[in-house]
Amino acid sequence: MRIRQLTGAAVLSALAFVSYSHGQALTEHKTRNVVVVMMDGMRWEDIFRGADPALIKTLGPKALGDAEERRALSQKLYWRATAQERRDALMPFLWSTVAREGQLFGNRDLGSDSHVINGLNFSYPGYSETLTGIADPRIHSNDNIPNPNVTVFEWLNRKPEFAGKVGAFGAWQVFEGIFNRQRCGFPVNAAYELFHDTDETDALKLLNDLKSENVRIWPDESFDPMPFHTAVEFLKSNKPRLLFIGLGETDDWAHGGSYAEYLNAAHLGDRYLKTLWDLMQSMPEYHGTTTLIVLPDHGRGLGAKWTSHGQKIPESRETWMAFLGPDTPALGERGRGTVVTESQVAATLAALLGQDYHADMPQTGAPIADVLGAR
Ligand SMILES: [Zn+2]
Repeated sequence: MRIRQLTGAAVLSALAFVSYSHGQALTEHKTRNVVVVMMDGMRWEDIFRGADPALIKTLGPKALGDAEERRALSQKLYWRATAQERRDALMPFLWSTVAREGQLFGNRDLGSDSHVINGLNFSYPGYSETLTGIADPRIHSNDNIPNPNVTVFEWLNRKPEFAGKVGAFGAWQVFEGIFNRQRCGFPVNAAYELFHDTDETDALKLLNDLKSENVRIWPDESFDPMPFHTAVEFLKSNKPRLLFIGLGETDDWAHGGSYAEYLNAAHLGDRYLKTLWDLMQSMPEYHGTTTLIVLPDHGRGLGAKWTSHGQKIPESRETWMAFLGPDTPALGERGRGTVVTESQVAATLAALLGQDYHADMPQTGAPIADVLGAR
């Protein structure tokens, strides 16, 4: 029997049927690789409104160096007349490429809601919720203990098509525990630890030298260039299908009370997103087949409480997330009625890669259908 040529409309309805047949969106996606970048404690307020008018005046409570000089520089870099211009100045890649070609959740000024469900609003619970899809009450401290749960990274690395194609790099030492380095089976490189699991390029050798020689401020956290550039060397050598980069300076400078450094760290993070995206689009392994996901692990307080977060600061449960890739419809900044939780990210990234994490781990958050395409 000769199969009748499908019309465009029939193809569309067949696709729609496939995507809804099991309530899951396990259609064929173009995404072959996923990169997750997390910016520790980066507030949605600063992402969507740019530099805070009150905080940029004081830069405190503990502005570094010459306060006048810092203020002049921060205002030159990040102060503009409108919130729209301020956010463009702070996060130019997010507000050009991602807002135009991807999706951004969490602007409460427009009625979009992104949040953590762990109730604790600090780092280990936030990363664990995001990476495992579960808000496990046993995860209730920032102690560097092996995660009893399996992250979606470990779950994917157990599959032959992803085995050996996974890596995680983070400024914070505790990523060793969050990813359960002893068990997970892929490289987890954190803080000042030297990295030898890939070709020793000149750049990697220099990075390892800097990690041992550079000044340290925080005992368990390096500056962000360390994990970022180590991850880039790994990306170039190993061509991973799943990569995690954890940036930490936004949270560290915020706890330190320095708003200027917090803004600089956010701006550098945005530049890293562009560097990574441009690099991947220039590589045949990643061009047109890679989805980038960006989000924080928790929010922060408002006003004088901007330096902190946690259970006693309820608004620090509020987060944001960004998706950019070949399957995510270009809906830009999302508005009223869009509600996403960090616990949905694990199943979403697996679904983009054609894998049904949520069916295997039903206690996890469901994939975010809006970013999967083929709706
Ligand atoms: Zn913190």
